Amino acid sequence: MKKYDIITFNDHVYCINSEDLCSIYVIIGTNKAMVIDTGMPSNDKIMPLIRKLTDKELIVCLTHGHYDHIGHLNEFDKVYMGMEDLPNFNNPKNKQYVNKLISLHDEMIFDLGNLKIKAIKTPGHTPGSYTFIDYDDKYLFTGDEFGSGCGVWMQVFDALPLSKYIESIDNFINYLKSNYDIDINDWTYLGGHYGQEKTSRFGYNPLNAEMVLNLKELSRLLLLDKVELIPSDAMKFNNEQSYYVSYKNAEMVIRKSNIK
Ligand SMILES: [Zn+2]
Repeated sequence: MKKYDIITFNDHVYCINSEDLCSIYVIIGTNKAMVIDTGMPSNDKIMPLIRKLTDKELIVCLTHGHYDHIGHLNEFDKVYMGMEDLPNFNNPKNKQYVNKLISLHDEMIFDLGNLKIKAIKTPGHTPGSYTFIDYDDKYLFTGDEFGSGCGVWMQVFDALPLSKYIESIDNFINYLKSNYDIDINDWTYLGGHYGQEKTSRFGYNPLNAEMVLNLKELSRLLLLDKVELIPSDAMKFNNEQSYYVSYKNAEMVIRKSNIK
């Protein structure tokens, strides 16, 4: 049995964190509870851990379709996901779950009773990436869109080109500025690998608006060929070399064919 820790953020928001550093978030409202991401596939059952936290009806959403966020789908009846990530289900292991998927759409609202969680499209790390906004708690559940404490992976096979990522960051920050009355620096970002928050090259690299804006600047400088590309041994895709790049506190792994 894999080891799981439960992290408590407040009396209704929790993170089930596996020893392999994947995070499943549980937000409990007065009527329903929301599960964001379903962790790394394993033979363990995740439902007993969720049921320790809540007996409410569950709404299950995925930040994106990568394998380390879509485990345990055999334990759920239906799951919301950005359908642009459907190609990740095109293999024998995941195909069986396709009929459980329901399409997310931009600004979709999930009503948990006292809490309303909004999904917004934030493509980049994958084309179907979504961020979930919990305004009452000032929490943003960002999956891998901005990395999770140790740099965003833009070398993965389905990452969008950097020009699209820049657009996506702009849309995201503008959305927060124009739809909410709080300062963009006052949100707490909860990434898809909460336990990784301390493995950054910088020792500790929390997600926040400043870092996200630095990711945008890093992307812009990469397009201008103004960033040093340091060969990285991070996972390779398409047989291409991966490179580590950084700007201030923003870190990224990139492959050259995505710098466009
Ligand atoms: Zn991912």
